[in-house]
Formats: sequence, structure tokens, C-alpha cells
Amino acid sequence: MVRDPRLTKLLKTVRLFHPQADGDVIELAFDFAQQAHAGQQRLSGEPYFTHPVAVAQITADMGLNPTIIAAALLHDVPEESAVTISELKKEFGVDIATIVDGVTKVGKVKYRGVDRYVENLRKMFVAMATDIRVIIVRFADRLHNLQTLEYQPAHKQQRIARESLEIYAPIANRLGMGEIKGQIEDLAFRYALPNEYRWVVGLMKHERATREDYLESVKERLTSELTTQGLEQFEIHGRAKHLYSFYLKLLDHERDTSKVYDLVALRIIVPSVADCYRALGIIHQHWVPLKGRIKDYIARPKPNGYQSLHTTVFTDDKQVVEFQIRTPEMHQQAELGVAAHWHYDEQGSFVPNKKLNWIIELAKWQKEIADNQEYLTKLKLDVFDKRIFIFTPRGDVLDLPEHATPVDFAYAIHSDIGNHTTSAIVNDVIVPLSHLLSSGDVVEIITDKNRKSPNPDWLTFVKSSNAKNRIRLALRHDQQGFLNRFRKKQ
Ligand code: MN
Repeated sequence: MVRDPRLTKLLKTVRLFHPQADGDVIELAFDFAQQAHAGQQRLSGEPYFTHPVAVAQITADMGLNPTIIAAALLHDVPEESAVTISELKKEFGVDIATIVDGVTKVGKVKYRGVDRYVENLRKMFVAMATDIRVIIVRFADRLHNLQTLEYQPAHKQQRIARESLEIYAPIANRLGMGEIKGQIEDLAFRYALPNEYRWVVGLMKHERATREDYLESVKERLTSELTTQGLEQFEIHGRAKHLYSFYLKLLDHERDTSKVYDLVALRIIVPSVADCYRALGIIHQHWVPLKGRIKDYIARPKPNGYQSLHTTVFTDDKQVVEFQIRTPEMHQQAELGVAAHWHYDEQGSFVPNKKLNWIIELAKWQKEIADNQEYLTKLKLDVFDKRIFIFTPRGDVLDLPEHATPVDFAYAIHSDIGNHTTSAIVNDVIVPLSHLLSSGDVVEIITDKNRKSPNPDWLTFVKSSNAKNRIRLALRHDQQGFLNRFRKKQ
């Protein structure tokens, strides 16, 4: 029998990342899902099975392992056919069946008005999807559904686009999955805000046409400069910003494109951290950096693990160009985030990037649980060590220690907000500042600029060391001010 070319492609992709991978489970899942979905159709008129295959291919392209790819192939089987989870368990084992079960549950949230729905979906994600693999499959599923959204009726397009922007993208961001976040946002943007989308696409086209040749010349100058200064190995790529993040940035700058410098940036990839700083030094010797635009995310990674050096410079002819400098490992982390953890070396052992503390934590956790007995192991969200996930009204996610309060949340946003906090609204209800938050809460902080300093009582209930330190600092500062005023009067 001739092998289905889609299966051949899947197996080929898997072997690219996992040369030793056993493809049997993928082949079995492929045949099983194909039979289960036999005769079913998508709205596009294509056989239903094209969907799970596409989802599986997305996970394979991310370099994920056969367990996750098999689960992706099977992800709609319990929902769309008579096959049950316990049958999947018999056929494919507990691990794959559990992922499929999680994906099905997360997909079961019923739509009951936008607000309620968004809230429930967030809670579901946080509560049910404790296995990060569930989230990854769900995100690949969402990505393919967005790619084929044109076949859905208009009201469904709207809902799917909105929830993608409001829920999926912020969670992908929190998990450091930059590439999937960017793709989800750009696809959803088109349906959620069609006029704005067209405006941005037009701007982007124009900007790229006028900038492309220029950036090519900057790239040439930089290449010769880096080489002269002895940097041997490096790659420079032009990188166009994702449409939706460009749009948000434009909104922050009164829709003025001339104020958004990183529309097209140059990305420099060098072998080591030392080379990153060398490259930055060479750029700054050559071109003057803009004030306040040098960001060292290597020394201070973003909370989602993102690392790079950023700088924006004036070039010789007074144009503004942004550079991002990183190692290949940082690059993989930036694109795949938490999904990068399923890349294994030849022996099948786990190779985390030593620079990223939270990955080391993940690895430790994995070692304790799995004790190396399993090639494929389960990572859980609770490896974030009893963290809870709290949402801002705009849909950003902050992680805080368990039993955190609105005051912890306020200080996690900014110490200025913390110091001027007067009250808090949690899920649309005003609560005391000592209220215990739980995962999935949407928290809004009310501030008063005239508030002089934090309340010392807050120290009795805040949980995060950040909040504690900030409160103490503000109180000490305040006391100092008082003493100085007092002495002057004497
Ligand atoms: Mn699906």
C-alpha cells in the first residue's frame, strides 16, 4: 500500500528534530483518526481529517515529539466520533489519551455572552489545562481554525477572532510562544478589525517598499564592520514586525508611523552571549544609539523567558534602525517559548538553556517526577511553583505567588501604581485590598494620585517579596522626608 503523502511529510518533519524518533505511534494515530473521521466534512467541503492532519503538522514544525503529534492527530476524535477517551487510552496509552481529554475539555466551554465566555475560557485554560502540552495542541488547533476561518459564518468569525486576541494570544505570550502568538494575532486581526487591518497592511507595504533597499545597505555596512572587528560567525536577517503588534504600537503613538522605529528591524544571531555584547559594542562605536532604547533582556530576561539585546541607532544618514542581538538558543526560546522544552538531544535527555532559570526549574521538576525513566514526560503549569495567573482588564497575564492580594498585583504592574492604590475590583466586584486572589481573576486597581504613601498594614498581608520591598522602601522614603522637614523647622 502506498503511504499517504501527508503522513510521509509528518514523519519527515519529526525526524528532522528527533532522528531516533519512533514513528509507529504517529502512523497508528494517523490511521485511527482517519477512520474515526471517515465521511465527515469541514465547512470548506474538504474531508474533516484534513484538519487534524494540519494541526499535527503545525506541532511537528515546532519540533515537538511523537506523543504530542499523535495527540494532535487524535484531538477531535472524542468530540466528533463515537470513540471514547477510555478507548483511546487502551489504544494509545494514558499519556496521549490524557492530552486529548484535556484538549476536548478546554474546547467545551459554552458560549454565554461575551464577558462570561471570556472569563470562563480563561479560567478553563488556567484550571483544566495544567498540562502545557494540552495548551500547545489547543493553540495549533486554533491556528488552523483561524487559517480556515473564511468558511465560517460571519458571527462565528467575529467570536473566534475576538477570543483569539483576548485569550489565546495573551496566554501564548505568557508562555513565551512568540511565533504562534504573532500568527494567531495577525490572522484574528483581519476578522476582528477589518478596516484597521487593511490600513495597517497598506502602511506596512509602503514602509517595507521604501525601507527594504535601505536596510539591505545597512546590513552590508554592518557585515563589513563586524568582520573587520573580528567577529567571525554571525547571521543578519531583516525582520518585519507582526501586523497586530505593529498596530498596537501605532495606537500607543497617536497612529504616527514615524514614531515606530522597529517596523522593520535587523536581527543579528551570534554563537555566544559574549558575542552578543561585542556586536552591540561594535554597533554603538559605529552609530549613535537613541536615548532610552537600549534594552538588555539578556541580563534581565522578560518574565516569559525572552532574551535578546535591543538597540535603536541613528545611522550615518540620520535614519533610525533597530537591532536585536541574540544567540541561536535565545532565538529558539523567543519563537517557541515553553514549546522549546520538547527538544531533546540524541540520547533523549533534556537540554535546557542554562541561562534561563525557570527552564532549569522545569528540568528539575521533570527529573524528580520522571527520574529519567521516560523519554516523553509531562510538564505541568504548576511547575511555576504555586503561582497563580491573574489577568489585567486588557487581558495581560501576570503570575503571582499563591494567596497574593490586589496589592501584590498592583506592585507587580508598577511600584507607582502600588504606592497609590486605594481600592481594587476583582471580576467586577469591589473587594478589600487583603482579598485573596485566585487564578483566572480579572483585577483592576483604582489609584489616587494624592495618596501620599502605602499603608503600613499592607505589610501584614502581601505575599510577594517585590511588594514587601517596595512598600518598605516607600515608607522609609516617606519617613526620611518627614524627618528632614522636621529638622528644617527646628
Ligand atoms: Mn480541532
